[in-house]
Amino acid sequence: MRYSVLTYGHAELRRKTQPVAAITEDIRRLARDMLETMYASNGLGLAAQQIGRTESLCVIDLTGVRREGSNPIDWADVPMPLVMLNPAVAQSSGEQTGQEGCLSFPEIFVTIKRAAEVIVVFLNLSGQKETVVARGLLARAVLHELDHLHGVLLSDRMSAVQKVSLAARLKRLRKQGQEQRG
Ligand SMILES: [Zn+2]
Repeated sequence: MRYSVLTYGHAELRRKTQPVAAITEDIRRLARDMLETMYASNGLGLAAQQIGRTESLCVIDLTGVRREGSNPIDWADVPMPLVMLNPAVAQSSGEQTGQEGCLSFPEIFVTIKRAAEVIVVFLNLSGQKETVVARGLLARAVLHELDHLHGVLLSDRMSAVQKVSLAARLKRLRKQGQEQRG
């Protein structure tokens, strides 16, 4: 089932997630639905809050993605799609600066500073603990989705200058998001 993605201003996006205690059929269906929604929206990642759920669950797929400043070799050995339950960053290092967007902020892209490499631990859908070393764009995507799971949004990562220059669009978006059902 495809969900509509909640946009900036919707209260659900600020709710912190609850850890997933057991891999149930409901969780497997949620993961499938989130992948379907992400692909249909042409996104690289999606977190549960973006469809109004509170499980600690996010999905990422960078298959075929080519982006200026990113190198697909960085994630060549990481199986996609990534379905991460209860993900946490165990270690982060370095720094990268690049463009970042979000399905909850349609048509807005901003330059954001992130760690260059992160080690993320999570449970997979089989209930096994996995560790992935994420570099470059994958590190950015992981950190972006983990932000969602903590109720942190792209707008929180913007500089004061970026916020001022996007103020009118953010205001419009926030109003739409508040009125959005779901
Ligand atoms: Zn996002």
